[in-house]
Amino acid sequence: MFYLPRIPLWFSKLNSSMVWHVPTKEKELYLTFDDGPHETATVFVLDQLKQYNAKATFFCIGKNVLAHPEIYERILNEGHATGNHTFDHTNGWQAKNDEYIHSVSEASKYIHSNLFRPPYGKISPFVSKLLRKELAYKIIMWDVLSADFDETLAPEKCAENVLLYSKPGSIIVFHDSTKAWERMSYALPKVLKYFTEQRFSFKSLM
Ligand SMILES: [Zn+2]
Repeated sequence: MFYLPRIPLWFSKLNSSMVWHVPTKEKELYLTFDDGPHETATVFVLDQLKQYNAKATFFCIGKNVLAHPEIYERILNEGHATGNHTFDHTNGWQAKNDEYIHSVSEASKYIHSNLFRPPYGKISPFVSKLLRKELAYKIIMWDVLSADFDETLAPEKCAENVLLYSKPGSIIVFHDSTKAWERMSYALPKVLKYFTEQRFSFKSLM
C-alpha cells in the first residue's frame, strides 16, 4: 500500500482548488474522522475529545448516519463539525460521474454541511469542479495521514506519523471505523495529550 504520511507542499499547491491545510501560524490543529458514525469508535472519539476540550470534524457516510442517528446527533450537540463523505463510500475512480454526484446528494439529505471529503481521496476533476462551483462545497483533503487504515502498521507508528508531521494548521486524518480501531484508539489519546501539553488547540473546520 503506498501513501505519504505527510503531503508535500508542492503537491497541495498544484491542487489548490482543494483544502489541504488551514493557513495559520497559531498553534491550532484540525482533527478529522472519516467513515462514521460507528457505534463504538465514534463514541470513543467523542469521549476523548471531550476530555481535552477538543473540537473536530467528522466526515460521515450517509448510510452510517441513517444507521446511527443518535451518534450523529451527539457529534453535533458536542460542537463538532460534520462533512459529507458520500452515501456509501463511493470510489471516485470507479463510479461514473452521475453515480458519484447522486451518492453525494443522497448523503446531503442527512448531512447538512458544505464540507466534502472524497473517499480514498479519489475524485475526478469534473466532479470536483461541479461540487465546488455548482453546489458550493469545500473539498477538504489533508496534510497529515495517521494511516490508521493500514492494518500492517504498528499503532505506535500511527501515533508517530501524527506527532512527527503535524504543524500549525494541519488537517489530520483518522478513521472512526472497525478497520482502523486498533491503531486509532491507541494513537488518538497520545496525540491529544502531546499537543495539549504543547499548548495547541484542536478546532473544527468551517
Ligand atoms: Zn473514507
